[in-house]
Amino acid sequence: MKRIAIAIHGGASQDSDFIRQNKTGYEEGLKAAVQAGYAVLQKGGSAIDAVERAVNCLEDNPLFNAGRGSALNNQGKVEMDAAIMDGENLKAGAVAMVKSVKNPISLAKKVLEKTSHVLLCGYGALKLAKEAGIVLEEDQYFITGHQLDEFKQANLEETGDILLKKQVHGTVGAVALDEYGNIAAATSTGGTPNSLPGRVGDSCMIGAGCYADNRTCAISATGDGEYIITGVIANTISLYTELTGKNLQEACDYVIKERNKDTPGDMGVISINKNGEIGITFNCERMHRAWIDTNGNMEARIYK
Ligand code: ASP
Repeated sequence: MKRIAIAIHGGASQDSDFIRQNKTGYEEGLKAAVQAGYAVLQKGGSAIDAVERAVNCLEDNPLFNAGRGSALNNQGKVEMDAAIMDGENLKAGAVAMVKSVKNPISLAKKVLEKTSHVLLCGYGALKLAKEAGIVLEEDQYFITGHQLDEFKQANLEETGDILLKKQVHGTVGAVALDEYGNIAAATSTGGTPNSLPGRVGDSCMIGAGCYADNRTCAISATGDGEYIITGVIANTISLYTELTGKNLQEACDYVIKERNKDTPGDMGVISINKNGEIGITFNCERMHRAWIDTNGNMEARIYK
């Protein structure tokens, strides 16, 4: 039997009325996305194509904070970040502060495939999107009633430091192992609600919110991006497995719950290695997540 596996997430933070009310929709969205990515692997597709496919599904689903349904910054605008990394060759592509791009993860993949750079921002990323024939949408496509309500609510409250204010987060991500023994990671986000314009989070930063190396593991992170950046979370998990030989679940637990136990931010990670082991850890009330293991068993969960 071919050894393939995939894990995805749809964000980690505190619980909310909206999440409870839409529990079934979230679970269905997670299952559809993990199955779509798995179908790519079953047909002999690559890990990098599988993570792109799974993330595309979540970007298109308005319940999740990526693509359609992205969070709004404090100007009421959508600015999205995404990154993708191929563990076979350590090639990566990422985009920051993009608007109009229906599927930012697919644009990040174009950066990987078509340029000699890793990260393109704003107008330059949009130029590549147009040249590469990436699907663009009007601003209204991205804005959902829920995110508009969140924006209005945030503007009624005193905002202050975005790190001091507890936020309900989103972000989506995927990690996969293909039948050729290669792993890949992808992360895509609408960012932190009510952030300053121009704020860039961890999701598009290789080594923070996204990382993949066949020799260690593939990781996608979610949560308070500023702490994921300063904790260099994804690369730390990878390096920890390399230096200690500990299994993936132990490595994720150590980095999130021990090494960063005093970090006041919410954090969650999904990871996979070339044996198909999956590690998932979060330090907050819930993490939307689903996986299909090497035996073909699927699970989708939101709470502990
Ligand atoms: N990490 C993302 C960011 O800071 C947000 C999230 O995961 O909810 O942009």
